[in-house]
Amino acid sequence: MRRLLARRFALSDGAARLSDVTTLVDPGTAQLPQQGTADRVQALLDQLLTRGRADRVRHVHRSPERVGRREPWPDWVPELLRERWAGAGIPAPWAHQVAAAQTLWAGRSVVLSTGTASGKSLAYLMPALSGLLTAQCSTGLAPPTVLYLAPTKALAADQLAGLAGLALGSHGVRPALFDGDTAYGERDWIRSHANYLLTNPDMLNRTLLPDHARWARFLGALQYVVVDECHTYRGVFGSHVAQVLRRLRRACRRHGADPVFGLCSATVSDPAVAAGRLTSAQVEAVSEDTSPRAAAAFVLWEPPLTGAVDEHGAPRRRTAVAETADLLTDLVLADARVLAFLRSRRGAEVTAVLARDALAEVDPTLGERVAAYRGGYLPEERRELEQRLRDGRLCALAATNALELGIDITGLDAVLLAGYPGTRASMWQQAGRAGRAGQGGLAVFVARDDPLDTYLAHHPEALFGRPVEATVLDPDNPYVLAPHLCAAAAEAPLTAADLELFGPRAPGVVDELCARRLLRRRADAWYWTRSDPTALPGDIRGSGGPAVRLVEAGTGRLLGTVDAGSAHSQVHTGAVHLHQGRSYLVEELDLDAAVAVVTRSEPDWTTTARDVTEIAVLADERVMRWRAAAVHFGSVEVTSQVVSYLSKRIATGEVFAQTPLDLPPRQLRTSAVWWTVPAELLADAGIALGDLPGAAHAAEHAAIGLLPLFATCDRWDVGGVSTALHPDTGLPTVFVHDGHPGGAGFAERGFAVAAQWLSATRELIAGCGCQTGCPSCVQSPKCGNGNRPLDKAAAVLLLDVVLSGAPH
Ligand SMILES: [Zn+2]
Ligand SMILES: [Zn+2]
Repeated sequence: MRRLLARRFALSDGAARLSDVTTLVDPGTAQLPQQGTADRVQALLDQLLTRGRADRVRHVHRSPERVGRREPWPDWVPELLRERWAGAGIPAPWAHQVAAAQTLWAGRSVVLSTGTASGKSLAYLMPALSGLLTAQCSTGLAPPTVLYLAPTKALAADQLAGLAGLALGSHGVRPALFDGDTAYGERDWIRSHANYLLTNPDMLNRTLLPDHARWARFLGALQYVVVDECHTYRGVFGSHVAQVLRRLRRACRRHGADPVFGLCSATVSDPAVAAGRLTSAQVEAVSEDTSPRAAAAFVLWEPPLTGAVDEHGAPRRRTAVAETADLLTDLVLADARVLAFLRSRRGAEVTAVLARDALAEVDPTLGERVAAYRGGYLPEERRELEQRLRDGRLCALAATNALELGIDITGLDAVLLAGYPGTRASMWQQAGRAGRAGQGGLAVFVARDDPLDTYLAHHPEALFGRPVEATVLDPDNPYVLAPHLCAAAAEAPLTAADLELFGPRAPGVVDELCARRLLRRRADAWYWTRSDPTALPGDIRGSGGPAVRLVEAGTGRLLGTVDAGSAHSQVHTGAVHLHQGRSYLVEELDLDAAVAVVTRSEPDWTTTARDVTEIAVLADERVMRWRAAAVHFGSVEVTSQVVSYLSKRIATGEVFAQTPLDLPPRQLRTSAVWWTVPAELLADAGIALGDLPGAAHAAEHAAIGLLPLFATCDRWDVGGVSTALHPDTGLPTVFVHDGHPGGAGFAERGFAVAAQWLSATRELIAGCGCQTGCPSCVQSPKCGNGNRPLDKAAAVLLLDVVLSGAPH
């Protein structure tokens, strides 16, 4: 009954980019026009709409097939390379690849911001490899070198494999992978001989730059720096990477080179601005995608209400995981090749198990053909799984969002997104894996029960009509800048000219570092005093601050660390803590030793910390006045104290205990956006004084839930405080602040787009079908007050007053 056809997967050229708006289809019928390649997509969609599920479709967005536009090889690309690429199935480059490559070859930095599988690598490989092969070097002194930076080790390993496939070794191209696993013996060879180095920003920070003198040959001849997947460098991590790149540019200059940057990005707003912030270089953007793509349909899907209610009486929706497992099962039964993306490893495993069981009931051999794609695989193991999916031995893979960059599969029949992956850039990257020429592809976004997912399911224009969010980072954050200025001074004394490279706040931070005796001024340069090695940047992916270690009781095994900033709420004594998908019970949090002692346990309850938080305005830096409200941006000090925790049954959501805790208050200095509105105007709008705290609190939760739509953050990256009367403003005030010391740029972005952001927040709350507030609108999973008080109706009135007179 089921024919399993031999299939061919388009590996590089056939993927869809779905971000253009085309036909909008009536969600009531969810019919696609029956035309050409859409038949297959329609058949798959029909399969999903069986069993009375048609009313779960909120929107179907269709994009037509696009024909690619090729251009001849630039005349400087050597014949040898053209032959190699022709042998790999590339007869000629796409127009966007040529545009980016020409810019780099002309010695100008460029960011290429196009869809998944649009062939971004070729754009920088053309000039980089041509440069190596023809030994043309901008310095004219030594044979040139190329540095390739990837956010993950896996991606760098993939790139190395791609280079090896071109077999250019006998022509003088000597690529080498340099990461934490590279043997010390091999490192000497790499320093002396490699001319195409593949590494990551962490290795630059920790190993290569501190040791730059020994890398003088490589750095002094550096012609191109490739920054792949540069949109992943965002927030505090992105700000650290920006400073590492400034140190790199400085080291290159000292050794006689001034490299050009070639950046690759998913489709984002203002790619040139973000790339310029990241590199501190002048960067041009190429963002017209000229690669072909298959016809595709993108479905927005909302799981049904279960009929049950939570402890607040709010209606419960079916989980995105259960719904995704069902859709995956039906697609496999329809003979489709499917990839599902989930937010957690546990979610990926549960999806695979549920689908396997359901399929095994139909056909025992089918169950074995669904797998979970976990972290920790070696590149060869990943390639093997991908190959099995391509040749049909596997029908479906369930993966986590975190593995998105490591998966080299496109041209699938269908992609399922269980929950919003956090950014539209990621969403398009994932959806773009569906679709191949002549067959089309289907992508389904399954909304989770939270404000952002719900908003997106009901507002397709937010996904399909607008440009994607901007990549947000703040290299000028003094908490990020200070350790990198110390590192730079340790690498070579800092001069006044150097400071310019590190941005406008560098001189002030250098003065502070001198006052702390970390730097010392002599003659006309600043020297590293070596007095405190902990002042240097350690882990650029952490918060930068101290961490609490998770230690297993009995074995003493170190399981990992938690940022000190979140330790009180995450790993307090008695907490049930999830670490890498496993659950642990915290026996004791020892703050003096910075250790949480835990035992492996699967209790049938979860815990939520409750805190008391105060916020003080330190500096009111910018203000925007609308008719009734004022929106501010500035620096704040947040003082919070975890005072107790609630224990809640997983199955029923019932709270069965509240346990007091004795933890000291913690301070955080960071950036915030806040808005105020006079109480009398709120009274005029019909908000009783007693309802004001619930209105402000509900508006704060929903606003935090929607900020990721405008800034590349996660709701866990920001916090909030709301109050009916704030001592510093003298008014009802709602604050949304960055969760990291010194800020990460998210609150600042919120200030810049305040009118759009708060309008969307108002729409979300008013449009939610619940009566008094639910997880899809005003409830928050991280609320320190147990989601009390919350007043949904008054929050809408409050936002109406705030937004009156706001620019559209
Ligand atoms: Zn609701
Ligand atoms: Zn709250």
